[in-house]
Amino acid sequence: MIVKCPNCRKPMSSKAPLCPNCGVERGEVSDEQIEEFHRRRLRDRIYRLKMFSYAAITLLLAAAGWYFYEASDMDITPSAGPVALVAVGAVAYVVVRGLLFRARRELKNL
Ligand SMILES: [Zn+2]
Repeated sequence: MIVKCPNCRKPMSSKAPLCPNCGVERGEVSDEQIEEFHRRRLRDRIYRLKMFSYAAITLLLAAAGWYFYEASDMDITPSAGPVALVAVGAVAYVVVRGLLFRARRELKNL
């Protein structure tokens, strides 16, 4: 398993007694502390992903509103803009949900 060095945050093997980068002894830091560090990092990631998914939903709603606004007005020829935005928002949302699912599963397996 690859963990981050508790001192310099560079990736290192969890089996290595010394960090190859800064030489700190990993034994000085308990496994629980490293696990806690991992958990915190995952929670931060989940929080950011949630924010991203809200942003994607907002974008979707705004684009859908724009689309219906254009569709309801007979004087305007509906443009491809809102449709493209809906597509971008939907793809972003699906990708973020996928990453969120993975991060949550990772957190559960710690
Ligand atoms: Zn280090």
